[in-house]
Amino acid sequence: MRQAKQERMVGMFLTEPGVVVQRELPIPVPRPGEVLVQLRATGVCGSDVHYFRDGRIGRYVVREPLILGHETAGDVAAVGEGVTALRVGDRVALEPGIPCLQCAPCREGRYNLCESVSFMATPPVHGAFVEYVVHPAAFAFPLPDDVTYAEGAMAEPLAVGLQCISRLGDVLGCSVLVAGAGTIGQMAVLAARAAGAASVTVVDPVPYRLQVAREMGACEAVAPCDLDAGRLFDVSIEASGSQAAASLVMGQTRRGGRIVLVGLSTKGDVCIPVGSIVDNETDVLGVFRYANQYAKAIRLMASGVVKTLPLIGETFALRDVGAALAAADEHRDRCVKVLVLNSGKA
Ligand SMILES: [Zn+2]
Ligand SMILES: [Zn+2]
Repeated sequence: MRQAKQERMVGMFLTEPGVVVQRELPIPVPRPGEVLVQLRATGVCGSDVHYFRDGRIGRYVVREPLILGHETAGDVAAVGEGVTALRVGDRVALEPGIPCLQCAPCREGRYNLCESVSFMATPPVHGAFVEYVVHPAAFAFPLPDDVTYAEGAMAEPLAVGLQCISRLGDVLGCSVLVAGAGTIGQMAVLAARAAGAASVTVVDPVPYRLQVAREMGACEAVAPCDLDAGRLFDVSIEASGSQAAASLVMGQTRRGGRIVLVGLSTKGDVCIPVGSIVDNETDVLGVFRYANQYAKAIRLMASGVVKTLPLIGETFALRDVGAALAAADEHRDRCVKVLVLNSGKA
């Protein structure tokens, strides 16, 4: 095993809501089957912003100082015993959830539903706003030369978009409605287009996000009030978590249609009309993170079929993670994705 030269590194810790502090900590050493990765680019996710602002998301509470960030890519800096698929210097994207691979959902291949998953930046597991992490080699995916670190970071939310399509099944030739044009909604647009949807319509109240959705391949992107109330779609993806959006997709999906719910409300549960689901024989599907989507996400970016970089609105240095989190929270009207760059190069 080869170890990186420095022994200490910088990590950015959320110590209390709204406060991120730079601290030094030892560079971890990879155990058998793990790699040490020098991180280069890490996206700021909505969940990071919630932890930053509120110190909690539902039952997950930040009790000890926590390093946030889980959308990340970098360079392999050392490999643990038994790692043969990766070498020092390989560029990789890290799938941030490490499942147990023992429980029933894991054995079914639905490891996103693992009950003892260790997921970066979900308390008490540290995340990626740090210089180095150790990670199982099996969850480190090589990036082809023409896929940047920034795109490697974007593989994470793209994997969620791909999971939506996996859950829906065939969308070839379908009309698709996407409610919510945050990162996940935008990734759903990319995934739906890549899967052959005939049309993708996006609704969101923020004009800037609608403009980005058009760049992502939406045929139409409008404010919710501008969507013809009588119009029906084959397939709908709810990516906002709001009650209004859930009601909208329920009302605008055709009989026998399919709906994916991927938005999670942070303000209490959202209600859906069971009577209409029964009456219309609607297939309503939940999506939680993703399983087996990372390699696909990277291939789609490498081939040029999917372009994620236009989502990145602002970039910050690692030491400015606090500002990055604040920007992701406050600049919703002019930025979809905020990226943290450890080395200055994307
Ligand atoms: Zn995320
Ligand atoms: Zn499991």
